[in-house]
Amino acid sequence: MNIVVVGGGYAGMSCLMELARRLPDTRRILVDPGRYHLQQTRLHEALNHGLARYRIPFADLAQRYDFVHRRARPRLGPQALVEAARRRRLSVADGDIRFDVMVVAVGARPRPRPRQPGWLGLADLRQRDGRRYIQALAAMPGRPWVTVVGGGATGLQYLFELNDALRRAGARCRLRLVDGGERLLPGLPVAFHDYVVRRLRQSGIDYLRQTRFVDADARGLQIERADGRSRHLSSARNLMFAGLRGNPTMLQTNAAGQVLADAVPFERVFAAGDCSHYAGRGLNGASAQAAVRKGRHVAAAIERLIARRRLPVYGARELGFFLSMGTFDGIGWMGIRRGIVTGLPAFAVREAIEARYELFLAGIDTYQVL
Ligand SMILES: Cc1cc2nc3c(=O)[nH]c(=O)nc-3n(C[C@H](O)[C@H](O)[C@H](O)COP(=O)(O)OP(=O)(O)OC[C@H]3O[C@@H](n4cnc5c(N)ncnc54)[C@H](O)[C@@H]3O)c2cc1C
Repeated sequence: MNIVVVGGGYAGMSCLMELARRLPDTRRILVDPGRYHLQQTRLHEALNHGLARYRIPFADLAQRYDFVHRRARPRLGPQALVEAARRRRLSVADGDIRFDVMVVAVGARPRPRPRQPGWLGLADLRQRDGRRYIQALAAMPGRPWVTVVGGGATGLQYLFELNDALRRAGARCRLRLVDGGERLLPGLPVAFHDYVVRRLRQSGIDYLRQTRFVDADARGLQIERADGRSRHLSSARNLMFAGLRGNPTMLQTNAAGQVLADAVPFERVFAAGDCSHYAGRGLNGASAQAAVRKGRHVAAAIERLIARRRLPVYGARELGFFLSMGTFDGIGWMGIRRGIVTGLPAFAVREAIEARYELFLAGIDTYQVL
């Protein structure tokens, strides 16, 4: 029995680990073009600590969880998936990989950033050591502006980490946030917005709300305010966090996690993580929390599929949300949305969540409890 997992992020890895436990006699193959599992929830911290700390070699994980790693980036568009499901073969550059069951867990792609020099986006930051970026900013003469476009959770986490890293490096840059929304983090209680705005003010970061990014040029960016007036902002360096899109498309699944093609599920092709949207009431959305739970759910579903039993329905609930705001600060909720924690306690909870994931990768699984 060959089980192929495409993508070794949070969803793919948690699926492989659960498969090793539930179905040790199967042959498990991870297909991922990279050499490392990236602990992406800490990616912004690479501005202070470098990238190596957040990368775990697939070679180590493959040994620990008994799977084979093939480095490849197969095509996964709608037609390629239909073809793979029909032939039970995944085409990669150096041949086909036969599978009995396949799990697509390739995450999401960041929306593109402007191509001008001086701009970076999430795709760049996944690859580079952020400390060099900070050193380059610290070496710039005068008091140059650095602009972060996009005040979602990722943009804010980067902004506060950047602020910390620049102060630590003695840089004299000024920071600004450009965001199109009426308020920050609209999906969360308004207390999140209020706390973040207070911290932005205290840190001397300019916050331009209801301000739409229009275009980039060599000297900065063109913006448009809610009243329709446009303006040019000079900015030496810029970071764009404009959200995510499918990789290459968002995969709709039934409540068991089987990928749907024209509303009909493939029996042997599942999806998990940021690239998937499950039918039903279970937790969707681009988060590691959902990705780990979907990955584990799919492993349980595959066990049932093989035993020809009814597939389980995914029903994970959101347990909480924490936003990191630099060293020793943050905001979040746990259990109930009104139970908001800020500052050092929030920072501590987030550290505990990260430690839990690190323990999980090391083989100590506390996700079975919650
Ligand atoms: C800075 C930052 C902070 C975050 N903080 C949090 C947080 O605090 N809490 C939280 O819950 N979430 C957080 N998130 C979101 C979280 O990281 C993602 O939701 C999570 O990584 C999704 O897991 P995934 O397995 O779906 O995809 P990913 O972790 O993105 O992994 C996808 C994998 O697929 C591989 N891949 C891509 N394309 C292909 C292909 N064609 N073929 C084969 N392999 C492919 C990639 O190499 C990668 O290994 C954060 C994200 C960022 C960027």
